[in-house]
Amino acid sequence: MKLAARVEQVQPSLTLAIAAKAKAMKAEGMDVCSFSAGEPDFDTPTHIKVAAQKALDEGKTKYGPAAGEPKLRQAIARKLQTDNGLSYMAENVIVTNGGKHSLYNLHMALIEAGDEVIIPAPYWLSYPDMVVLAGGTPVIVQTDASTGYKITPDQLRASCTERTKLFVLNSPSNPTGIVYTPAELAALAEVVVEKDILVVSDEIYEKIIYEGVQQISIGSLGQEIFERTLISNGFAKAYSMTGWRIGYLAGPEKLIKTMSTIQGHSTSNVCTFAQFGAIAALESSQECVEQMRLAFAERRKVMLERLNAISGLSCAKPDGAFYLFINIGKTGLTSLEFCDALLESQQVAAIPGIAFGADDHIRLSYATDMNSIEKGMDRLDKFMRALL
Ligand code: PLP
Repeated sequence: MKLAARVEQVQPSLTLAIAAKAKAMKAEGMDVCSFSAGEPDFDTPTHIKVAAQKALDEGKTKYGPAAGEPKLRQAIARKLQTDNGLSYMAENVIVTNGGKHSLYNLHMALIEAGDEVIIPAPYWLSYPDMVVLAGGTPVIVQTDASTGYKITPDQLRASCTERTKLFVLNSPSNPTGIVYTPAELAALAEVVVEKDILVVSDEIYEKIIYEGVQQISIGSLGQEIFERTLISNGFAKAYSMTGWRIGYLAGPEKLIKTMSTIQGHSTSNVCTFAQFGAIAALESSQECVEQMRLAFAERRKVMLERLNAISGLSCAKPDGAFYLFINIGKTGLTSLEFCDALLESQQVAAIPGIAFGADDHIRLSYATDMNSIEKGMDRLDKFMRALL
């Protein structure tokens, strides 16, 4: 069978592959410590589940508008105003099958052959592949610990060409956990406006931040940048709703209408009754979000302390999300070799940094229980002692 040329250039998701291998080992009865998860380990808060159950009982089981339930679009527009200082109407919002789908449809609506999309590395692994699937060219800008894994305004400016259409910004970031400061965002916004490009701000980890760090949306920094900003977000991380598959994108109405047409011919609406759970998530108390954040904060503290005591590894302190991005350069191993050996010899699952464009790193997720963190760190310590 001859497959379409465009799929020859994309790779299956490495994070999903490692998580699947760890799961298979667990199923065989092995005591695996998995730090591969990109999802909170908490159950979805009860009031959100109850709202979806109620919608199901009330017969919200039919097709709905492709762009989402009007009440949910309104609730998201209100949230964007209240939480992020962004003035959108419901018409500026489309509900999608997760944040991933919002970004994918955005690329389908916006990017074509010849278009360049600037992606700072380390990046969330799906960004470059989405650009390729849309026929565009990803322009990867390497960052490292010396700039806190942040793209600088000069790097952004130097990467822009006549063909640059979009800049992908992810703060807090997966995999590094970095959060851009308001001043850093303002400096990047200046370049976006000067070069007259668009920026998509992936804010899916916005609620998971630590130690008083300030999280703001680049789009809130003035009218000129607002007009060039697209917001991608979702319910997966903040409300522990990964399996519900609900995300959204906010931007100019023309773009939202186009994305809605694409959705109308591909997935149609997001699961109708699930959207009522999402309305409850936004319109009820946000205490559940804070409780999960506090649990992550505690785990981050323990894991960082343990990690920093292991010789041969180093890790910048993350300000957000639930990952440690660890430099393994001193081991001389590639990230795949490191992760394979760690899984085989110690039954500890980590994600190789090559998946994020940084082969001298690995990613550990602390969206797991404290017991697994302690046990996994003991094993990582043992692994490193044997290695160096
Ligand atoms: N953006 C980033 C940076 C992510 O890490 C993820 C999920 O891991 C997503 C977007 C997509 O999330 P979802 O499609 O589950 O809403």
